Amino acid sequence: MSHVFHRNPRQQLDFAVRGQGIELFDQNNKAYIDASGGAAVSCLGHGHPVVIQSIKDQLDQIAYAHSSFFTTRAAEDLADFLAQRSPGDLNHVYFLSGGSEAVEAALKLARQYFVEVGQPTRRHFIARRQSYHGNTLGALAIGGNAWRREPFLPLLVPAYHVSPCYAYRDQREGESQEHYAERLAQELDHKIQELGAENVAAFVAETVVGATAGAVAPVKTYLKRIREVCDRHGVLLILDEVMSGMGRTGHLFACAEDQVVPDIITIAKGLGAGYQPIGAMLASSRIYDAILAGSGFFQHGHTYMGHATACAAALAVQQVIEQEHLLDNVLARGEQLRAELRSALADHPNVGDIRGRGLFVGVEFVQNKDTKATLDPVLKTHASLKKQAMQNGLLMYPMGGTIDGVHGDHVLLAPPFICSDSDISE
Ligand code: PLP
Repeated sequence: MSHVFHRNPRQQLDFAVRGQGIELFDQNNKAYIDASGGAAVSCLGHGHPVVIQSIKDQLDQIAYAHSSFFTTRAAEDLADFLAQRSPGDLNHVYFLSGGSEAVEAALKLARQYFVEVGQPTRRHFIARRQSYHGNTLGALAIGGNAWRREPFLPLLVPAYHVSPCYAYRDQREGESQEHYAERLAQELDHKIQELGAENVAAFVAETVVGATAGAVAPVKTYLKRIREVCDRHGVLLILDEVMSGMGRTGHLFACAEDQVVPDIITIAKGLGAGYQPIGAMLASSRIYDAILAGSGFFQHGHTYMGHATACAAALAVQQVIEQEHLLDNVLARGEQLRAELRSALADHPNVGDIRGRGLFVGVEFVQNKDTKATLDPVLKTHASLKKQAMQNGLLMYPMGGTIDGVHGDHVLLAPPFICSDSDISE
């Protein structure tokens, strides 16, 4: 019996013993193509020598120093790198150890900002029904995945939800993308007015929805309209790019494609590419300056924030991606992957939609292509697909999302940025 408390204790897991490039190997030396990087994490593949060397070099100098006593060269250099490439003035980088921590920090920073600037009634968060922002209590409170929230509802602060931007299911027949975006912006506007703008701190959204829906990108102009609504009401815009950021969509920050600058952005998975656990929250100067001029202290923190070894690994990952122009490959290989999936699967009676941006690709399954009725949740098609794919030596991220009580089955493909034309075809 294993003494590891596995998340799913009834499941028999094989051992991952080795990783090289786009492949992982188990204890029987069976190879798996890592086409999802876990949950869109391993964007540089496995065993990258430059990243491994940077970790060794950092360990030779200093592994860790507590952030309330010291800063480190690794943390400063990674923050410089990100700040120089972030949209707008998102220049203030707060390091954490993962996505949920980054989202918690963003929520608390938004709240503290309004306390600092003398608007203490602003305390509500609005997010979207089809969303996942993490499993810690604050992040779970704003998330829109009913199944994940259900057992913990009595512990969650109230949060408010509006419709996601999910064109495949919700854009009406004959409705232009612009009108659809406008309709969603109006819904947010109404929700803010209903709560009273003076009570609303921030609107939180994934730039491209990951786990709950499978790479659902917003229609053009959606985020711009949302930004306008937030500005009109003095509400902060927090974009969660924990999964979609750090090059996954072909842009370092996914919102660059939408030409929108949020007030706070969260990143994690691709930042350290799985070589070390690391996440970050980037805040705008307006927010940072308010803390600086106000209490002078952000009332939040974790033991491992700004961990030197994690920062060194993440900097090496990001430098490799930039120096090897891997985001060009992300765009080209992403187009190829969607095109090949469409030619192989578009006519399948249970394949409803094939979508995504860059190497962030979702395939949604339906019972009926015309009605878009979701698959029977009891069948857990996503789980059997995962099993079958693993038998065939392929790793992909399946999810049976629960959206307003409706189960939608999909798989998410998030292959590493280093994959070649023939890897994608395989
Ligand atoms: N936000 C988004 C958009 C995510 O996809 C995830 C994880 O899947 C999280 C937050 C939580 O990140 P973590 O699992 O690192 O805590």
